Order: sequence, then C-alpha cells, then structure tokens
Amino acid sequence: MAEQILKTQIEYLKGIGSQRAEILKKDLGIYTYEDLLQHYPFRYIDRTRFYKISELNPDLPSVQILGRVVSKEILGDKSTKRLIARFKDETGSMELVWFQSIRWIDKNIQAGSVFIVFGKPVIFNGHFSISHPELEPYQPNVVNKGNLSLQPVYSSTEKLKQFNLDSKGLQRAQATLIDMVIRSIEETIPNYILQKHNLISLQKALYHIHFPENVELLKAAEIRIKFEELFFIQLKLLRTKVIRTQKYKGAIFNKVGDNFNTFFAKKLPFSLTDAQKRVIKEIRKDTQGGIQMNRLLQGDVGSGKTVVALMIMLLAIDNGYQACIMAPTEILAQQHYLSIKDLLGDDFVSVELLTGSTLKKARLSLHERLENGKLDILVGTHALIEDSVKFKNLGLVVIDEQHRFGVEQRAKLWRKNVIPPHVLVMTATPIPRTLAMTLYGDLDVSIINELPEGRKPIKTVHLYHSQRLRMFGFMREEIAKGRQIYIVYPLIKESEKLDLLYLEAGIEAIIDEFPMPEYQVSIVHGKLGAKQKASEMQRFVRGETQIMVATTVIEVGVNVPNASVMIIENAERFGLSQLHQLRGRVGRGAEQSFCVLMSGNKLSTDARTRLETMVKTNDGFEIAEIDLQLRGPGNIEGTQQSGVLDLKLANLSFDQKLLIEARETVKQLLEDDPELKSETNLPLRQFFEQKTDGISWDKIS
Ligand code: ADP
Ligand code: MG
Repeated sequence: MAEQILKTQIEYLKGIGSQRAEILKKDLGIYTYEDLLQHYPFRYIDRTRFYKISELNPDLPSVQILGRVVSKEILGDKSTKRLIARFKDETGSMELVWFQSIRWIDKNIQAGSVFIVFGKPVIFNGHFSISHPELEPYQPNVVNKGNLSLQPVYSSTEKLKQFNLDSKGLQRAQATLIDMVIRSIEETIPNYILQKHNLISLQKALYHIHFPENVELLKAAEIRIKFEELFFIQLKLLRTKVIRTQKYKGAIFNKVGDNFNTFFAKKLPFSLTDAQKRVIKEIRKDTQGGIQMNRLLQGDVGSGKTVVALMIMLLAIDNGYQACIMAPTEILAQQHYLSIKDLLGDDFVSVELLTGSTLKKARLSLHERLENGKLDILVGTHALIEDSVKFKNLGLVVIDEQHRFGVEQRAKLWRKNVIPPHVLVMTATPIPRTLAMTLYGDLDVSIINELPEGRKPIKTVHLYHSQRLRMFGFMREEIAKGRQIYIVYPLIKESEKLDLLYLEAGIEAIIDEFPMPEYQVSIVHGKLGAKQKASEMQRFVRGETQIMVATTVIEVGVNVPNASVMIIENAERFGLSQLHQLRGRVGRGAEQSFCVLMSGNKLSTDARTRLETMVKTNDGFEIAEIDLQLRGPGNIEGTQQSGVLDLKLANLSFDQKLLIEARETVKQLLEDDPELKSETNLPLRQFFEQKTDGISWDKIS
C-alpha cells in the first residue's frame, strides 16, 4: 500500500501539477513521490543562532536577527521603487529592503511588530542592510515546519526557481508530501537490527532528514538513511553470492600434479613472497571445495600477480582442465603471452595467443586444438569471448584489469563450460577497500601487499618545465649507466590535436638533445600502425634504444626491467591512478628507479595534491584512497556503468565505518538465515525484491 503511494507520479502532488512536474523530471530526475522524498537537503542553515545587529560584518553568510520594525517607507518610482524598513534590536539598527512584492510586504509588516529576519547582511551607504530577507513573525514557543532550528537547503535549478520551486518551494512540497505519506511508510529493516545498531525508524529518519528538530535527530536520521542505502547494496551483493554458491558447482582442483610441481621446483626463477604464497593458499582452498570461485586479486603494479595466476593455471591443468587469461589490450595480451612462455619454457604445457590480429589460418588451428583439448593455456584479448572460441574443458578464467570488462562479457566466459569455470580477476589499480566492497562485494578478495624482495622504492620528483635542463642532464647520467628511459605524454581525446602537437614538439626536443648515433629513440603513439608500434616497442625491449617517447599506450603491460626512469610530461593532466600505473612501469629491476613528474607552474589545488601524493608515497592503496577523496566514487574508473553506486546520502569515502557495519550485519544475517525465511526477516526479503525491481536473484552479477 505504502509502496503504491510512493510510486505516484509527482504531478499529482498538491501544488505541483503537470508543468512543474515536467521540469522536476527533466532537471532533477524526480518522477514520483518517492523520488521527491529522496531528494534530501544538501545542507542545513543553523537557525538556532541569533545575531545582534552590532555583531554584523559583511563577511557573514545569511544570518538571523530578532528585532522590531520601527518604521517603513516606500521610495522612488517605477524601476527604482523600493520599500525600506528600519529594523532595530537592543544593540543597533539596520535596513531591510524590498524591490519586489512591495504591496504585499507593505500590507504584512507593521511598524512595531517583532520579527525574525533572515538573510545576508551587506553594507550599503554606510549601513547594514538585507535585501529581500525572509521574515517570520516572532511567536515564542511555537515550532512548526517553517520555523526550524535547522533549515534544509535543497538543490534546485534556475528553471525550477521560475516556477516557485526554489529551495523554499521544494521544502513546501516536501512538507505536503511528508504530511500525506509519512504514516504509511513501512519499516524496511528488521527491528532487532535497528536496536542492535541504535538506528531510528525509517519514518522518523525521513521526517527529520527533511525537517530536523535538532542536530542530534538530524545526525540520527542521516545515519539511518545511509545505513539503509549501504545495507541493501550489501544484501544484494552477498545474497547473490549465496545463490551462486548454492546453484553452481565448481571444478575441483584437488590434485597438485606434475605441472605445478615441476614449475615450482625447476622453473620458478625466484622464491615467492609470503604474500604470493598466502594468496595461492587462499585460491587453492577456494578451488577444492566444489564451489565456483569468484575472486578478486588486488596487488600493486609489480607485486607479481602474473606468476600467481600462472601457478593456478598449472593447477587447473594438473586436474584435467584448460585455463585462459584475458587482457584488455593487444599489447598487454602479448606481454602476458611472452612472459608466460618465458617462465614455462618450451618443453612444457602448451600456450597460445589469440587476439584480433591473429590470422585466420592460425586461428582455425587454434580453435581445433582448444576443442579437442590439446591446448592447455590460451592467452588473449576480447577475442577469447567470441562464440567461435570453444574449449574442451575450461576450468579457470583469469581476467586482468577487470574493470574494463563489462558484466555481459564476464557472463559469456562463464558459459564456456558446463560447470562454470573458476574466475580470478586481477587488478593492478588498487581499489579502496570501501569501493571494492561495493563494486565487487560479491567477490572474495585476496591482496598481495608486498613487493618482491630487493626492489628499491621508486624515487619520485616533481619538476617544472623551467627545470628541463636539469632533467636532460639527469637523463644523460642514467643512460651513461646503461639504463633506459620512458617519456610519456598525455593523449586525451578532448584535446587530441593539441596533445599531438605537444608530443611532436617533445619528440623534436628529445632528438635534438639526444642525437644519433650516440642515442637511439623509440617513438610509440596511437597514430602508428600496429606493426610499427610493435617494432618500436621491440627495439626498446631488446635494449636497442635508450629512450622511448610514448603516449599512454604503454600504460598497461610493458615490462622492461632495465628501464629505470619514467618521465611524465604534463603530469598535472593525469589522474592519480594513471600516474601510479605509469610509474609502475619502472622499478622492476634491481637498480634504483626514478619517476619525474613534469608540470607547468600554474596548478589547480587538486593537481597539486595529486603530484604531492605521488612524491610522498609509493603505496597504491594509499594513492587509491586519496584518489577516491579527490574525485568521488562516481569518477573512479570502472564505476560509471555500475548502478550499485547510486547512493543518495552515503559517501564511500567518508562513511567507511558505516559501510563495514552494514556489510558485517548482512554477513551475519545471511549466515543465520541464508534464504531470509525467518519471520523477522521476511519483510526484508519482500522489500528487497521490490527494491531490485524484479532483477532475478540468481542473475550473474
Ligand atoms: P604485476 O602483474 O603484479 O604488476 P608481474 O606479475 O608482472 O607483476 O611481476 C613483475 C615482475 O616481478 C616480473 O618480472 C616477475 O617475474 C617478477 N616477480 C614476480 N614475483 C616475484 C618474486 N617473488 N620475486 C622476484 N621477482 C618476482
Ligand atoms: Mg600485470
């Protein structure tokens, strides 16, 4: 019943009508009563504080003053016509001015009456004055919705303001709506949870978020609504996981066989870090229980995720399955292919590469070997997803840089086997904990929080363009030591033409400064054909060139341990996670590595914070956290398509504690009652099903 009222179209609300409704829909996305109810104030004006006239200064925002109108007069005519009232308290006097609605004001304020005046004080002709103040007749002991200590401020638009739906107008609409629906709003969260977490009821919360009686109730209302938002996201994610584990069996990798053992004993050129060992254990546990694994592997660039993935692939093969690893770009797929081949050697399991540019003939033979089980590991790009790619017995899918793949694509891989393959998603862009819990909350998470031994932390400096000579000098020194250098230029779609000009000028300067034959320079950018690109890369990989000038095509992938300097031009234009990714291209060998951030002198506050953060820390998780604070969750790569971040009030950066509380609550809830069948939880299930609008519970997320 209540749900039905809330679904009512907004035009039916008293005082709205079809014209205003149109604008509400268009400007604010408010279609229904419920949408309006969830259009929460974005701040509140403290109406508990009264100012004395003697305390006024022109820097104050809107203030409220209690006083008496002592006289009024109408001055000027036509365009200059105005009503001026003299307003006094015990400390002084000031003016209130109206240029509009003069007749109405004249009728409604009488000399001698006491008012609460609210507005922004300015100095005019040596006096303080407020133009078009809000006025309230002073009535001691009366509290009503228009006379709140904390006055809500709603976001509105120019258009809406023309139709009397400014913040005040929206407040009036909220008042009408709340009066009408508040009593029929049903509780969504079981009582025992509310009690345990000290949460107020939904009714009370909705009332006080719009019309807070005091600061404490406002706080309680905010917490309750935020908790609700986070709680239902977690319920959806974790319930999906429960269903998945019940519905799908997983391939069982209980044998540690020849492939794994031989690799570990004979081929692995280094010893694993403790973190790598721990993660392999976590994954092994997942793959033995007969449940399909969905695990997110997070680890900073260079932390050694690929080896971990490879060892799990060998485990799959030991148990009679095939494995594949999918990368978002051709270059990265190639790199994976080469490094896997390199680690495995020739006389071992079979590995092939499949990308968009694989020739038809090779492709056909590859398809055949996949289908009859002769091929163990397939490395590739999106090309892997195509329906023509069929496996005999796919047991493990590794996805690198997952957030570039959509849900649909993930699902397609699932269907490549009768028993859905285990899925290991690797990401080199560490995701802040709260974001991971929300975006990938249905996945288990493993973290490699340790770099292989012997790596020296990369030293990062920030230089201005004017210090370019210093940079050239430094480059010469490093090249003399036998090192190789990347120079990266931004290439951003919106300013592509200009960027290409910068790139060309940059290349010219480098060639002037580092002439042949003493120096060799590789140049790689998006405008080159695939072949040429690859050959330029190869020259650098083989050490034939000392400098590689590139646009961000090298962002993911390339692994050249001898490259120890990363110079990023116009670094202020890159996002934090991108900068961190780029820096991760160096620091892979035993030598001390450097990252030089070049920028102009004029920097926005955010840009300065980004560069300072890079100089200060190498910790990808810390960087991700700051990135989240700077940009907000909606702008972090990969979150845009994700509906789960449709939060009205909660903020993933600032409400971490609450998120963890909500998640733990849901975990416990599902542990005790996975089907949500108990009497107390039944409403939760019903509400949840409504809320997810018919999304079937067992859809793969
Ligand atoms: P990621 O994919 O996490 O960025 P990679 O798997 O590409 O990192 O590993 C980076 C480099 O470190 C590779 O050259 C890899 O062979 C090497 N490496 C991985 N694990 C170790 C280890 N435990 N000790 C030494 N080197 C390692
Ligand atoms: Mg990698």
